[in-house]
Amino acid sequence: MHAHTALPYDQTAETEWSNIVLATPEVCRATLDSLMGRDAEKLASYFYQHMLGHPQARSFLTADAVQQRLHQSMTRWLRSIFHHPMDDAAGIVAHQRLVGEVHARIQLPVHLVSRGARLLKHHLRLALAQEFDDAQIRAQATAYAEGLIDLALELMSVSYERNSQREARTDEAYRLFAIGQNVGVERERQRAVLMEWANEVMVALHCKSAASLPPLRKSEFGMWFHHKAIAMFEGDMEVEQILDIIERIDNVVLPLLRPRDGARGAVERVSDLQDEIDNLKFLLSTLFERNLEAENGRDALTRLFSRRFLPSVVSREINVSQKRNTGFALILLDLDHFKQVNDTHGHEGGDLVLQQASALLLSSVRNGDFVFRYGGEELLVMLVEVTAESARRIAELIRSKFESTPFSLAQGHSVSVTASIGVAMFDGHPDHQYLIKRADAAMYEAKQSGRNRVVMAR
Ligand code: GH3
Ligand code: MG
Ligand code: MG
Repeated sequence: MHAHTALPYDQTAETEWSNIVLATPEVCRATLDSLMGRDAEKLASYFYQHMLGHPQARSFLTADAVQQRLHQSMTRWLRSIFHHPMDDAAGIVAHQRLVGEVHARIQLPVHLVSRGARLLKHHLRLALAQEFDDAQIRAQATAYAEGLIDLALELMSVSYERNSQREARTDEAYRLFAIGQNVGVERERQRAVLMEWANEVMVALHCKSAASLPPLRKSEFGMWFHHKAIAMFEGDMEVEQILDIIERIDNVVLPLLRPRDGARGAVERVSDLQDEIDNLKFLLSTLFERNLEAENGRDALTRLFSRRFLPSVVSREINVSQKRNTGFALILLDLDHFKQVNDTHGHEGGDLVLQQASALLLSSVRNGDFVFRYGGEELLVMLVEVTAESARRIAELIRSKFESTPFSLAQGHSVSVTASIGVAMFDGHPDHQYLIKRADAAMYEAKQSGRNRVVMAR
């Protein structure tokens, strides 16, 4: 898309790139080109094997999706650098920039990239020693290979830096926005769901047949806290304290109230539970009070999260999923033939439909899920802690609600609107954009195959 919009820095880089290539005898270039044609895959495998030995690198590379895709793109990258490197210097330079952007999105530490380059150069030196007997030509070929790799790396780092600063800015903007002006409402709601959970525990305690007590972590409150509040209140010390309390309640207090083996629980310990809940409520109101005044930034028409926070939210969820080994899904939904709605009922009519469609989505998902306005009449839901099966079920439920709900217009009129839906499960790939693209492709497929349907991304 913007692969060829050159920045001033890139023009200098293009010249340098050309200079390195021009200073190298043709025989060296040709040898590297054919060496890569032959060995690039082997080099990529060697590279991954070594990187997997590094504990921090491992966490970025182990997912199947990553290995398959990165192995391919690494092979392609190696070949592209040495294959006719003069034909399209601008293209090659722009490509290194894109690689740096991807690295920034997945927050791949720069030192790991340098480590990778070091391994590669080492391996190339050995390979070139096999190719050339003449010491001078060998030295030229080595300098050429290392020069191009170093320059590529430098270009990646420049765009890495630029992009990670940008991500950090949206992250901060998101945090400010997440604690926006509905904090008052949110506070009341979270107090209420916490009390609901406490009531459930009491009922279960007095009902002898209930096998175990409902864990707080899995309650509406627990889900909200683990997925939303952590982002909203990031950096506030009460967050850790509340996480501790939730864990203590589930692992210590509840098991003592109702032991698993059927022995009598100590019902008199209910006051322990009450103390923990009081603590929790206190910490929670401290958090809310402190953040009450922050700015708001929702989409004006629908009141949904606006799209600019999507990268922050999805990245965060990717981290959570990787740490806790839970799944999550993106549901991307595009209203069918929406232009006709506008044409028939005016733009105001269309706006009314969009507002009701947003409300419909909000009422179809749980507290810890996120709903975004992705584009004009495209809405996006992030479902946390779901399996593919339940993500599909929820998407299907949403689809059928659209099909059966008349949307109200002015003067008692109404209109039917269906939706085409794409669902993508997080598959271990750390790039949020990759996941969004998969959801988008699935939605497009739903359109192509007749609209008003759900398609799961491959
Ligand atoms: P389909 O998606 O089924 O292929 O058809 P469509 O008619 O929905 O497709 P298209 O994406 O071409 O048109 C989307 C329309 O949505 C165009 C635009 O006028 C309308 N739209 C986008 N945002 C808004 C909005 O905020 N309010 C209103 N009223 N209309 C909007
Ligand atoms: Mg559209
Ligand atoms: Mg549409």
